[in-house]
Amino acid sequence: MVREISAGGVVIRNRDGAWWMAAIEPPNESTGAAARRSLRAVGRPVLALPKGLVDPGEKSPETALREVREETGVTADLVTKLGDIKYVYTRTWGDGQRVFKIVSFYLMRYQSGRINHIALEMRIEVARAKWVRLQDAPTLLAYKGEKQMAQRALEYVKAHAEL
Ligand code: ATP
Repeated sequence: MVREISAGGVVIRNRDGAWWMAAIEPPNESTGAAARRSLRAVGRPVLALPKGLVDPGEKSPETALREVREETGVTADLVTKLGDIKYVYTRTWGDGQRVFKIVSFYLMRYQSGRINHIALEMRIEVARAKWVRLQDAPTLLAYKGEKQMAQRALEYVKAHAEL
């Protein structure tokens, strides 16, 4: 099976004593079957975490920081690794190959920039980037693996009052 390695981020920001997380709404036409089912079920756009393929010569945390910048418009600092998620999907292009995918996720802290201020060409992948309450993220995110990452981020901030 073809393999893909990606990396992404759970970017958190504290505002008025509450933690917020950067999420993206992928454009409807590019979302897969699971995502479309989820959209129908909840009646609102699918939410996902920013992520992307690790480029040759790039280290996974570098990819995660770059993808966060490109897909959300914000710059962040690495806090810790949250974990790896794995899934299999079927390509909708080419000869419809099955892909085994591993995505490493990192907890990051917001540094600068405005959410959703992204390059025009990124609109192919991102309809909108926005802050959601970290507390709500495990429910709002569409995919099981990403829900787990948000849950780990929640546990991390609860255990690290110094953040
Ligand atoms: P990348 O963001 O890594 O460049 P991509 O946008 O090319 O990747 P994916 O986001 O992996 O591709 O989406 C490919 C397929 O897998 C889509 O059908 C999508 O709905 C589905 N998918 C995406 N994330 C997950 C996940 N965490 N669990 C299960 N299926 C997922």
